[in-house]
Amino acid sequence: MEESQTHIVIVPTPGMGHLIPLVELAKRLINLRTHRFTFSFIIPTQGPATEAQRAAVGSLPSGRAECSFLPPVSMDDLPPDAKIETKIALTLARSLPALRAAIRAVARARILIVDLFGTDAFELCLELGLRPYIFYPTTAMCLSFFFQLPQLDSQVSCEFRELGEPVELPGCVPVQGKDLLDPVQERTNDAYKWVLHHAKRYRLAEGILVNSFTELEKEAIEALKRPEPGKPPVYPVGPLVQAGLSEGAERCESLEWLDEQPSGSVLYVSFGSGGTLSHDQLIELAHGLEMSGLRFLWVVRSPNDKAANATYFNTSQGAMNPLDYLPKGFLERTKRRGLVVPTWAPQIRILSHESTGGFLTHCGWNSILEAVVHGVPLIAWPLYAEQKMNAAMLTEGLKVAIRPTALETGLVGRGDIATVNSRPNGTVGIKRVGNMFRRTAEAVGTGFRRNPDRKMCMRR
Ligand code: UDP
Repeated sequence: MEESQTHIVIVPTPGMGHLIPLVELAKRLINLRTHRFTFSFIIPTQGPATEAQRAAVGSLPSGRAECSFLPPVSMDDLPPDAKIETKIALTLARSLPALRAAIRAVARARILIVDLFGTDAFELCLELGLRPYIFYPTTAMCLSFFFQLPQLDSQVSCEFRELGEPVELPGCVPVQGKDLLDPVQERTNDAYKWVLHHAKRYRLAEGILVNSFTELEKEAIEALKRPEPGKPPVYPVGPLVQAGLSEGAERCESLEWLDEQPSGSVLYVSFGSGGTLSHDQLIELAHGLEMSGLRFLWVVRSPNDKAANATYFNTSQGAMNPLDYLPKGFLERTKRRGLVVPTWAPQIRILSHESTGGFLTHCGWNSILEAVVHGVPLIAWPLYAEQKMNAAMLTEGLKVAIRPTALETGLVGRGDIATVNSRPNGTVGIKRVGNMFRRTAEAVGTGFRRNPDRKMCMRR
């Protein structure tokens, strides 16, 4: 990068968990004084842009970054049970003609950054004279798995969940096959083929930026940085999390409600942008929260009995009212200490609020990093994508998170939900989470600034 100004094209694949950290990456580069970076965000879609997407790109400084949404591509030919990874990869693959035209129009572009399922856009790099980079929005551990996957694929003939031994990734806690990311759990499924296809193309990148940091994943990052022939350099650039003011300065119900709660008393419950529970699980969670006696702020979505990521492509859920699915009388009985917010909430401002004392999370990596930066202890409830790997890292590797146990039915029962916060080892674990997160947040010089004695929802 010898020019005094560099224009970068960023092409995010669908998912708020991809778009938000890419926006933050751009903001961080724009703030550099040593070099002038400008950006074009070109966003493939399969439907109208959502409010959350518009808010994220709207937070970019005008004059230094422009944004366009490509025409939606159709997924009508896919079977109803097509996995999200297939849809994500296809959204980009089917947008390539429109993407080519859009990049051509940005004559000054020098670099292309795609995210984990975007390497098909690399075929435009040679043609249009761009240097190819990957932004990897999750852990160094998962990136390490992507590097290992082509070899595993040729050596292992069974499903990974049938392996007798856990999978060893350099510098990482061993992972049971069943806890590897969702799309590799069924090797005949298209989602697996897409993950493998992209994993094989990672070596085409000039560099890979991973949204993690040494204080959290020291050994895994050191292993990834070790040079190997044909392997691109890996740069840990995390934690990239949305800045608090990016969601607008306006007040909203959840923040006003939090203002009235005692410091560190509220358990924030949210399953990211895509997470949904079955109806039975939703009922158990509601009863568990009620029985716990804790204050809570719950971002609730309408249940879905088929998929744990039913709102991944559209967080709005249309005309469905999630409150209709709660147990009868629940809202009335818990109204003095609980707030239920349908569908979407300003998460970063909730996590940075003084009253938030804990976070029951689906273990999306952005959510974990946001909790790290704001010093909020976690209860891990992984649902989809690589979230079980993230939960394994937090609970077994770093030993800093607690995890409720599922019953034989697969459901997490109300009794465990009610007590997970206060069971003896849970309390110890949760205090360690808080301390460890405070230390890492300080170590990376990020936003932890309040409530040095934050404890997990100890006050009721
Ligand atoms: N998010 C939010 N409000 C919500 C749900 C999610 O602001 O009600 C944001 C959250 O702060 C995070 C992103 O959406 O930045 C979700 O990313 P994550 O990696 O945690 O999970 P994913 O949605 O990709 O599964």
